[in-house]
Amino acid sequence: MSAICSQSAIDAKALRADFPILASQVYGKPLVYFDNAATTQKPQVVIDAISKAYATCNANVHRGVHYLSQQATQAHEEAREVVRDFIHAASSDEIIFTRGTTESINLVAFSFGEAFCQPGDEILISGMEHHSNIVPWQMLCQRKGMTLKVIPFDEKGCLKIDEYAALLGPKVKLVAVTQVSNVLGTINPVAEIIRLAHAQQIPVLVDGAQGAAHLSVDVQALDADFYAFSAHKLYGPTGLGVLYGKRALLEAMPPYQGGGEMIDQVYYSHSTYNQLPYKFEAGTPDFIGTTAFTAALRYVQNIGMDKIARYEDELLKYATEKMQAIEGLHIIGQAEHKSAVISFVIDGIHPYDLGLLLDKLGIAIRTGHHCAQPLLESLGYEVCARASFSFYNTFDEIDTLVAALLRIQKMFK
Ligand code: PMP
Repeated sequence: MSAICSQSAIDAKALRADFPILASQVYGKPLVYFDNAATTQKPQVVIDAISKAYATCNANVHRGVHYLSQQATQAHEEAREVVRDFIHAASSDEIIFTRGTTESINLVAFSFGEAFCQPGDEILISGMEHHSNIVPWQMLCQRKGMTLKVIPFDEKGCLKIDEYAALLGPKVKLVAVTQVSNVLGTINPVAEIIRLAHAQQIPVLVDGAQGAAHLSVDVQALDADFYAFSAHKLYGPTGLGVLYGKRALLEAMPPYQGGGEMIDQVYYSHSTYNQLPYKFEAGTPDFIGTTAFTAALRYVQNIGMDKIARYEDELLKYATEKMQAIEGLHIIGQAEHKSAVISFVIDGIHPYDLGLLLDKLGIAIRTGHHCAQPLLESLGYEVCARASFSFYNTFDEIDTLVAALLRIQKMFK
């Protein structure tokens, strides 16, 4: 273990000092936080950015001529530019702030659906989607008399690309697929998925909720038409997300919600709409959140997303090897290209019991259906346990988890 640590791209033990919550004790035990796929902890710079924004430049953006409003607007628009740079978009006009991945996908399902979809059309998703990349499309299909089709995956948890290619055709109006599965951990070949769809002029939405937190993202290199992600999974604040969309598509789509900010002129008979990105940002935006997100993105950029991905891969490999050695433990998702997520079950122990007992030992994992009921059902499970890692986790913490699993297993025997 120490050999792995000494070669590591990241000094996790030093970085942990930036995250006050990681020094907590739970039931008298040091907190081991392995629920990072659900949400990540926040470094002090993000916590400070929130309090500094409220203390120094709290005023509504875009509306006031006064000093504070201009300061707030500048910080908010700077955040848009920082996000643009983070995902390497061509223009900050293509960066829309939302409440999160879920709202970003709902926005596309509504507005793209209104502009481009007709009865009889199809939407193609994968068999490993989060509910937020299933239900909005289902609702669109119900509204418009369309069909939702599903790309299958193999026993390792890899999408069957041949079957995907065969599902593409003139009726498919959009492909919506996750970059990284929050259950299986699979890193999907989204560049290839996009290339195949584009060969038939079909746009692709990438759910980057997990991907953006663990991988370097370049929406132009991917040629993604839409890319959705959440700030809270990327060390930023809750209630904030991003929708990236190619300008031509966004221009052709109607607004999602009506209200202040998204309009140009309002009459009782009709309204005209603002330009991008404001057309899709009705109401007061979370300008405190966007300022804090700037701090979060600068923090991870300072470490380097490539280094983060490399270190988390070391953690994943170490944990996989140790957990696989536990008799009766089954890892769900064995793709070669995986992100730092390990879903698992242990014979004879209900995942909820496992989660509760681990919690008493100070270890936070997630148990449940992980908002992916159709995926778990297709694998024959109702629920499972999931440990998910971040760059601030250590090899020692994985040893703690493995020792705890063995102890709990002994109790059940
Ligand atoms: N997609 C995936 C793959 C996710 O993991 C999540 C969050 N668990 C979401 C979408 C939804 O993200 P949010 O709740 O932040 O909108």
